[in-house]
Order: sequence, then C-alpha cells, then structure tokens
Amino acid sequence: MSLGNIDHVAVLGAGNMGHGIAEVTAMAGYDVSMRDIKPEFVEDGYDAIAWSLEKLEEKDRLDESADEILARIETTTDLEAAVADADLVIEAAPENLELKHDIFSDLERYTDEETLLATNTSSLPISDIADVVDTPERVLGLHFFNPPVKMDLVEVIYGERTSDDAAEAGSEWVESIDKTPIYVRKDVRGFVVNTIVGPFIGEPAWMVSDGEATIRQADAAMVHQRGYPMGPFELGDLTGIDVGYHVRKEAGDEIPPVMAEKVEAEALGRKTGRGYYDYEDGDGADYERGDGEGFDTLRVEARMINRAAYLVGEDVATPEAVDTGVQLGLGFPEGICRRADKLGLERVLEKLETLHEATGDDRFEPHPSLEELVDAGKTGEDAGAGFYEYDGDDGDLDSYHHLNVALEDGVLQVELDRPSRMNALSSELLEEIDDLFSTIDTDDVRCATIEGAGDRAFSAGADIGGFAGAEPTDLMDVTPAFETVNDFPRPVLAKIDGFCLGGGLELALACDLRLATERSTFGAPEITLGLIPGGGGTQRLLRLLGETRAKELVFRGNHIDADRAEDWGLINRSVDRDEFDETVDEFVDDLRTGPPIGLEVAKKVMNEGEDASLDAAIAMESQGFGLLASTEDVLEGTTAFAEDREPEFEGK
Ligand code: NAD
Repeated sequence: MSLGNIDHVAVLGAGNMGHGIAEVTAMAGYDVSMRDIKPEFVEDGYDAIAWSLEKLEEKDRLDESADEILARIETTTDLEAAVADADLVIEAAPENLELKHDIFSDLERYTDEETLLATNTSSLPISDIADVVDTPERVLGLHFFNPPVKMDLVEVIYGERTSDDAAEAGSEWVESIDKTPIYVRKDVRGFVVNTIVGPFIGEPAWMVSDGEATIRQADAAMVHQRGYPMGPFELGDLTGIDVGYHVRKEAGDEIPPVMAEKVEAEALGRKTGRGYYDYEDGDGADYERGDGEGFDTLRVEARMINRAAYLVGEDVATPEAVDTGVQLGLGFPEGICRRADKLGLERVLEKLETLHEATGDDRFEPHPSLEELVDAGKTGEDAGAGFYEYDGDDGDLDSYHHLNVALEDGVLQVELDRPSRMNALSSELLEEIDDLFSTIDTDDVRCATIEGAGDRAFSAGADIGGFAGAEPTDLMDVTPAFETVNDFPRPVLAKIDGFCLGGGLELALACDLRLATERSTFGAPEITLGLIPGGGGTQRLLRLLGETRAKELVFRGNHIDADRAEDWGLINRSVDRDEFDETVDEFVDDLRTGPPIGLEVAKKVMNEGEDASLDAAIAMESQGFGLLASTEDVLEGTTAFAEDREPEFEGK
C-alpha cells in the first residue's frame, strides 16, 4: 500500500467544518471534491468558501486570485463521483456514529486501499468509525479546529489499527497545507486539546457550584492573573454550554450543577442570548480585572496539568505536542507542560493531593506519571528537568522555547514563536532574544534574520497580559533585548510579513535593515493604552524618521501601511508577497558574503556616530577605517577586485 501521494482530496460534508477544510485544501493547491447530500447544502458551502476567499483576497492574504482557488473546487451530491479519484478523503458529516458507519462502508466500496480515509470527528473514537472498513490501517483522525481557515492546528489521531504510514502521510499532508499537525498516538476521548480544556471549564464550574467562587471572579483571575485569552465561563458561553454538557454526559462524568442549571433553563450561551452572562439585556462577559482576587487559579491549572501528565504518561502525546496543541488550539499563552515546569511539579502534586484528601473526588487523583516525575526529582525548570529537560547549555540553539533558531551557512535565523499570540513579546521571549544574541559565538555568524512564526504577524506588540499587576518599577526595568540586538556585531535584518506593532516595531527598529511585504502594517499604539514605547521606540523613530513623522506615529498611535513606511524610510523595501523571499535572499546573500570585520566596524561607527558630534563621529570613522586597512579581508577584497573575481572574506 502506498499512502501519501496526494493530489486530489474529497471532503464529505459542506457544513461548518467541511467547507472550511475544502477551502484551506484548495488554497494549498490541491484539487478538491466537496460532497453533501443536497444540492442546496453544497451550494451554501461553496458560497461560504467564495465569500471567505474574497475577504482573504481583500486583505492580500492569498498567493493567487480567489477565482483560481475556487476553480480547483468541484461540488457534487454523488459520493462515488466525489471519491473516485481521491487520494485522501476527509469526512466532515454530522457527529453520529451510525451515519459515519454508512459513509465509511460506502468508502470501502468506492475507494481502493491506496486512499487515505480521515474523519474530522471531535468525540467519536476513530477505532469505532474504522470498524466497518476492511482495511482500518488507512483510517485516521484529522481533527481540524473551527474555523479551519484561521486555526492552524490539526490533531492527527491514531485509531487502534491505524498504520504509521497512514498517520505519517496524514501529518505530512497537514504540513503541506500550511497547518501544524500534532500526533495523538492513542484514540482517547477528547484527543489532546479537549482533554486539557475539560478542567479549564469544568473545575471553575465546580468551584462556583460549591459556592467557593463566583463566575466573574474565576474569569477575571484566569484572564488577568494567568493570561488566558478568555475566562472559562466566557469560553463556555462562546462554545455553547450544552456542548460541554453533552460531552461530559457521554463520558459518564458528573456534571457541575451550575452547568446543568443553565442547560435546563436553555440559557446555552451567546447563541441563545444568555448563558453565564447576559448578552441581550446585559453587557456580556463584564468581569473586571479586580474581580479575580482570591480565586484559586492553581487548582484549575493543577487539574489541567494532571491531564497533561496523563496524556504524556500514557504515550498519547509528547509534552511538545500537548503544548503546541493548547497554544494553537486554545490560544493559551504558553504550553501547559511548560507552565507546569515553571510552577514546580511538586506544588502541583501537593495541590492535587490536598484536594483529593479533602474531597475524596477522583478528579483530583494525581496521575502516576506526575508522581513519578516528582519522585525522580524532576519537578520542573528550577530542578533542571520536569516535563522538559533544562540543561542550561547556552550553546544549544534548540534550548529556546519561544524562539526557533537555526544557523545555516553563517546565517542565524531567528523566528519569534508565539503564533497564537501574533508573536507578542512576553518577558520570557525577550529574555531569550537577549540570551541568544549575547551568548552566540559570533565567529559562526555572518548575519542574522528575525521573523515571526505563523502567517499574521512579525510581532503585534508587547504581551499586555504581562502588564497586569506590574509595578511602575517593573515596567521601567526595560529589557536589554532591544539594545542587545542593536549592538550585535553582525548585521541583523527584520523580515516583516503582517503586523509590526508596538514592541514588535521596536524590535524591528533595533535591527539594521527591514524588509516587509506590502500587506504589512506598522504602528506604535502604546499611547492608546496611556503608555509610550518603552523599548527604545521613541528615540529610534526620532532618529530614523525625524521629529515630524516620529511624533505622528507615537502621538496618534495609528497604523501606517508598508508603502508609506517605505516612503518614510521606516523600512528598506516594501515588496509583493510573491517576491519577498527572493528579495530577502538577495539582501542576506550580500550580508552573508560581505567582510565580517568591515560590516562590524561599519555598524559600530554608524550606530555610535549617530549620537556623537560630527567631528567625533568622523574621528570614529577614520579610526575604524585605519583598523580595517591591516586586515586580511581588505587584502582579499582588493586582490579579488584586481583579479575580477568574487572575494572570499574570512573575517581576519
Ligand atoms: P455541520 O452540521 O455544520 O455540517 C455537516 C454537513 O454534513 C451538513 O451540511 C450535512 O448536510 C452534511 N452531511 C450529512 N450527511 C452527509 C453524508 N452522508 N455525506 C456528506 N455530507 C453529509 O457540522 P460540522 O460542525 O461541520 O461538523 C462536522 C464534523 O466535524 C463532526 O464530526 C464534528 O464533530 C466535527 N467537528 C466540528 C467542529 C466544530 O466546531 N463545529 C470542530 C471540529 C470537528
């Protein structure tokens, strides 16, 4: 069986998920057949795709025209026709095992065993769905998140009989459509993401039901103290209280009374106008920062961490997969395993044990793998190991958690890796930038590039969550990261695609050169928060743009587009997205092959000369010039010129 040669994809179901999956598949260049049971359902799905592609086109988010993408999507109500040529079938029909059995029985008939069969089910076991297929090794879960066009994550789920070939082919395909796959190696209820979100919503619901907390208190604490993008009750209202209710019911779990009461009263959340909050007559989720005081956030996080310990301990997923899952699937500010390592696993275990003893409730029973980690002294970051290893080896480029770092052919490539937060600069991320640029051996580096992960932003600013509860003195203690980049003895180039705002703009300003795609936007919105840029932004903008333009950006706090940024001299080039990589390569090539000492001296005298008197600056320049005259690089440069060949500089 050779799975994995995928050209043609069939999507079954044109509803919420099906049409989104068909859209992202076609965007990645695949031919797609989208099937539903009635012509009007197929049409609705197709229209929804056309509408969405048009919006993306307006925002310059497509590599080709919306029409070209649409032309790759065929629609049909005929299952056999839809799957006849398919190399991959993704079923996104309603969540009903009998119906899925009918579909997979038909698939058994209409496809050969080279066709990969995937289901987008959220809650049915993949193994059960595969029961009706003679070749269950080619059946897997590909669990997209809603809406597929925005959500980067896809869980790649093994049923009991799924082959490695099938899972790997599925995972590679997910990467090919520019999404991030995580392996879920066992067919457990909730897979990874929903396993973790369960207690995030459930535990506060118990605490409220038991009179130990209020709804606003829980939401305010989780958002403002712990940085979650939404409060647990706010999230429950958004996804529908009945949805969580039924998932719990099916799992045979007890249901927190506050949840059951809402379902009985048909106050199901936003969709009914009322849930935990009132969206019709009230102001919706109207909790405020101060409401969170006294809420036991550790109790909620300890339960999520216990679930993570279960997933890792039972070999369902690696800590990396769990962390990627919760960041991309739930927008968590950091991975839950990483957070556990920071909190200290002994604290987490103690919390669970105390609650277990006090209540006798199984939900607090620590998973053996958590106990094992603590017994082995692996209690987290401070101990040097926990879910992750912390070897403290500065030379190790893989040791960064918020940065992806690679060193290739003398080019240090740095990616800010918080795509779920549009690469907002948290204090940890800035610490890592500072550490990387101050400890890397510059002999190995000819130039550096900095870019943002994901497809939305270079960096959309500082992580405002980090300001919550900060004292003025904390904020004044500005991170050295910007200066470290500015002073790095090699040229640094910012590759900007998307938002470049606030702290993100300041990081770009600390770089030497800035290239951006035309769709990028720039701004210093700090003033709208009552703040000012605090990472050198006011001063660098002033020097770069002059007072008139710098004050416009800082005082008004609004955005400018890439063309204006180029016009103002904020960036070196604004280029079409199609030509971006090529332009970057041209710049990087010149920097990489340039004379290292010459570039270092040029950077130094230009950076320092800017703040000196002209006389002093010129003196600095001549000194630098004199220093270079005796280097081997200059000899090589002049010889190569005379011999009419490319110089090969060695930095000597
Ligand atoms: P939906 O009701 O919006 O769409 C389902 C579509 O399937 C409908 O258009 C329906 O007419 C069609 N359909 C019914 N029988 C069919 C058949 N035999 N062949 C092809 N199409 C058929 O539902 P949805 O929200 O898109 O969910 C689809 C699947 O995705 C479910 O398994 C669900 O659990 C899963 N899922 C949903 C979400 C979500 O947030 N909505 C997220 C992840 C996964």
